[in-house]
Amino acid sequence: MTHSTTYPHLLAPLDLGFTSLRNRTLMGSMHTGLEERKDWDAVAAFYSARAKGGVGLIVTGGMAPNSEGGVFPGAAGLYTDEDIANHRRVTDAVHAEGGKIAMQILNAGRYAYSHECVAPSAIKSPISPFAPKALDAAGIEKQIADYATAAARAQQAGYDGVEIMGSEGYLINQFLVTHTNQRDDAWGGSYENRMRFAVEVVKRARAAVGPDFILIYRISMIDLIPNGSTWDEVVMLAKAVEAAGATILNTGIGWHEARVPTIATSVPRAAFASVTKAMMGEVSIPIVTSNRINHPDVAESVLAEGCADMVSMARPFLADPDFVNKAAAGKADEIAPCIACNQACLDHTFSGKLTSCLVNPRACHETNLDYAPVTSAKSVAVVGAGPAGLMTAIVAAGRGHDVTLFDRSDRLGGQLNMARQVPGKEEFHGLVDWFTSAVAHAGITVRLGVEVITETLDGFDEIVIATGVVPRDPQIAGQDAHGNTVSYIDVLRDKVDVGKRVAVIGAGGIGFDVAEFLTTGDSPTLDIAEWKQEWGITDPQTDRGGLSPDGPNPDAPTREVTLLQRKAEKPGKRLGKTTGWIHRATLQMKGVRMLGGATYEEITAEGIVITKNGERELIEADTIVLCAGQLSDRSLADALEAAGRTVHVIGGADVAAELDAKRAIDQGARLAATL
Ligand code: NAP
Ligand code: SF4
Repeated sequence: MTHSTTYPHLLAPLDLGFTSLRNRTLMGSMHTGLEERKDWDAVAAFYSARAKGGVGLIVTGGMAPNSEGGVFPGAAGLYTDEDIANHRRVTDAVHAEGGKIAMQILNAGRYAYSHECVAPSAIKSPISPFAPKALDAAGIEKQIADYATAAARAQQAGYDGVEIMGSEGYLINQFLVTHTNQRDDAWGGSYENRMRFAVEVVKRARAAVGPDFILIYRISMIDLIPNGSTWDEVVMLAKAVEAAGATILNTGIGWHEARVPTIATSVPRAAFASVTKAMMGEVSIPIVTSNRINHPDVAESVLAEGCADMVSMARPFLADPDFVNKAAAGKADEIAPCIACNQACLDHTFSGKLTSCLVNPRACHETNLDYAPVTSAKSVAVVGAGPAGLMTAIVAAGRGHDVTLFDRSDRLGGQLNMARQVPGKEEFHGLVDWFTSAVAHAGITVRLGVEVITETLDGFDEIVIATGVVPRDPQIAGQDAHGNTVSYIDVLRDKVDVGKRVAVIGAGGIGFDVAEFLTTGDSPTLDIAEWKQEWGITDPQTDRGGLSPDGPNPDAPTREVTLLQRKAEKPGKRLGKTTGWIHRATLQMKGVRMLGGATYEEITAEGIVITKNGERELIEADTIVLCAGQLSDRSLADALEAAGRTVHVIGGADVAAELDAKRAIDQGARLAATL
């Protein structure tokens, strides 16, 4: 099979009349954080790597058209000649790699994290502490003019186009629905009036840049909020935006304040492609679909099924800049997969950190994390084939070292093999598969099922210890007396029998995972219809905004679970910034009782006795599952050091607290870059 027939739709060029795109991939907008740090070498390196990797059309992170519209104070924009010169470095670098790049113009409206923020009406959003000022007629004129000015400056800076951000609940979206627009002038009231702002922005931007410039309009196809747009309104807007001069229509799914997950790992792949499909034929400009498309097979079938003309992927290009070229070369198994965890991208963005990627620590660090080939190869032993050890081995071998990877288990992946058992975490299968193929391609010697002792490592130049963790024993009275207490490893890896009533001890990431595992039957993530029903998502054609009037409708839980922690705070408070609420909502839907502030008194044959606020309570349970955190497994490292050997200790073996794959992979990559 030739490669072009593997992904014929994805790799087909797209003729836009005045220009053409080399394939049907659009790199969706992601904030990097590099622009605010004024690290323009890094911005250029980041985008040019994606252009070199074959992306058809890159869209940058959102640039503010003015200070009141910035997502946060000081958000990057294109204001001065110096800004234009800096952006020119980026566009030149992308063009040098044969790529095309459009700048996204983003006015956050009431989502702007600032006292200056503006909106059609003075209605505060539920996700921001700042009440916006309602724009007057002159203020609206200024906002429109600022979009047009930003578009003209983008053209001066060498961009091939702009994307006008009209979705996700930002300013333009706020004009469109009565939820946020309660004006009674020419900009509010009827739908024609509410969409006037969006249409004027497109018209004026088009007038500012002339005909031969890509103008993408990102439309909110399904708002997923109460009183969102009807489908007829969305179609009316799409047609008006086309008439106003848009070149491409991109899909936005859900406002940021929506209480429905739209991009998290538990969202089924391509869950919203059908929403875009309904727009096909309504306009004659190309339409892009989006959300949870992370593999070329998925992208190809979405296009082959006529859901869209192009596919937008944002996070997948953080995970692997060479996604397109690898797909085109028939090497899809070598694409590092985005597992939609948000841990190093959106969670970073929303905590003011530089964006990166759990799977690819070089993302946004292209200029300071280099996997340069070595001049003299060393023999490197890596003990432990979890994420830390795997990444070390792959990067070290990629640089030319002679690497041997050991694990006592008979499979690669370490704790990832437990994570992949959890409903909604199916993407971890792909991650383990990618690690496995990368190990094979890197020519690493793999020795599984080996209990490594100090002598095993004699003769190696470098020794890396990535032996991971052992579960913490909470030593609760009675835990060994009744045969009813097991660890999360027994449940997730060894699949021991678990009764109908369960108490989970410890409400960290693993306690939540175990509670989800124990209350969920078949994973809704593998069935789009079931997943939508669970979260109360319908078609925008039948319900305004695509929300069912009946709300979420999850399957009944398969067990009765109580999730316990000692800290008095709300369980799950420390889970991922952008995903924790989904895990809490999921467990709530499954009727899980979540209890903080518990003191564990005793495990009995009936369950576990706790005290809370001075009151004793027996939580009746057939099975008690211990998820009380981890301790570093340093036994081998200690033995080697006692024998006078120098070792590098990484991952959970180094720091067990808040053990997570992001830190493990990052630490492994950075160590391997220096060996
Ligand atoms: P964790 O997040 O540190 O949580 C440990 C839990 O155990 C806490 O709820 C803690 O709450 C409790 N605990 C600690 N010491 C205890 C003791 N002596 N007795 C009783 N309870 C005790 O650890 P984790 O849940 O094991 O997750 C570790 C990290 O792995 C997560 O942060 C996440 O990043 C990652 N993760 C991994 C997986 C995976 O499958 N490998 C899955 C999800 C998340 P109290 O101290 O308040 O009781
Ligand atoms: Fe994807 Fe996670 Fe990487 Fe973000 S951090 S790009 S969600 S794999």
